[in-house]
Amino acid sequence: MSVSFHLCQPGRGASCGACCGLYNFRDHSRAALTERLAEQTARMRDVPREREAWHAAARDALESRKEPPLFPSVRVCPLLGFIDAEQRRVGCLGHPKVTGGVDLRDCGVYRASICETFTCPSFGWLEDAQARLVEAACQDWYLYGLVITDVEFIRGCLRLIERELAGPARPERIMARPAALEAVRRLFALKETATGRSPHAPIFGRFTPDMEGEPVSRTLNYARLGVRAAPEDDVVLCLGYDPADASTLIAARERVRLHVRAVVRTLID
Ligand code: SF4
Ligand code: SF4
Repeated sequence: MSVSFHLCQPGRGASCGACCGLYNFRDHSRAALTERLAEQTARMRDVPREREAWHAAARDALESRKEPPLFPSVRVCPLLGFIDAEQRRVGCLGHPKVTGGVDLRDCGVYRASICETFTCPSFGWLEDAQARLVEAACQDWYLYGLVITDVEFIRGCLRLIERELAGPARPERIMARPAALEAVRRLFALKETATGRSPHAPIFGRFTPDMEGEPVSRTLNYARLGVRAAPEDDVVLCLGYDPADASTLIAARERVRLHVRAVVRTLID
């Protein structure tokens, strides 16, 4: 494992529930997910902390769900919710640290032993400094989960910064400068704010569901668009752009480029 801290609940404002199915819906907007998490939290709040009662409540929640998951292979757990009163941290409502002792994770969509030991690819693929940069820049559950789970996006953003700097973009250097960290936050926040995408742009833009709903990698069709590849395209794809024409792609690249340049300006002042 190359990351030295726990990516799921690193503390402060960051927390993640992506592998519990948090974003696995066609409408994965912040508003829709906040509403869903608040509903799930309220549903479980007054259920007696006993396995039978939690199993029944979780089953009811699954049966009454209106929207199917986007990727059927990623289950959506009804035990995911807000674990603090201020609704600033997302996490497992059945975890012993949340229930006050009893482990109720067996009542979710996986066995508790799987929940306890699972680590997503980011644990192995991200460098420690990259993960720390994401944690420092994304101090809110919605953005943190979107970014920390998208290794290609993080690497792509750092590659673009390095290209523009014509030198290494060391995360430690960025974190030492508040203005740089804020500019990186805005770059990462394109995951949520980038305009010109379809309202249902793929949440993990590199992937799209195939006929069976399994995630498959996608690319840009340069021949159809009539343009050559550009350095920004990895990030453009990760943002979920699916340009129908060259001008949309060029505008998306420019959006990314402007944010990268904003980061670099704070590093060379
Ligand atoms: S997707 Fe990764 S970081 Fe997020 S909760 Fe799951 S294991 Fe943790
Ligand atoms: S029970 Fe497991 S899958 Fe469900 S929210 Fe908790 S950790 Fe996630």
